[in-house]
Amino acid sequence: MFSKHTTCHYCKQPIEKGVKNCPHCNTLNPGVRVKEVLVWTVGMIVVLYLLTYTKS
Ligand SMILES: [Zn+2]
Repeated sequence: MFSKHTTCHYCKQPIEKGVKNCPHCNTLNPGVRVKEVLVWTVGMIVVLYLLTYTKS
C-alpha cells in the first residue's frame, strides 16, 4: 500500500503524501516537485499576462 506515499524531493525518503514538512529532513512541501511548481508559476504568470493584455 504505497499509493498514499511519495518520496521527499530533497532526501528521497518515503513520506506521506500531503505532509507540509518532511519528517526526515524537515524540507517544506517535500511531495511537491520543483518542476511542477515552476510549471504552475509560469502558467499563472502567462494567464495573468493574457488577462491584463486582453483588458487593455
Ligand atoms: Zn526529506
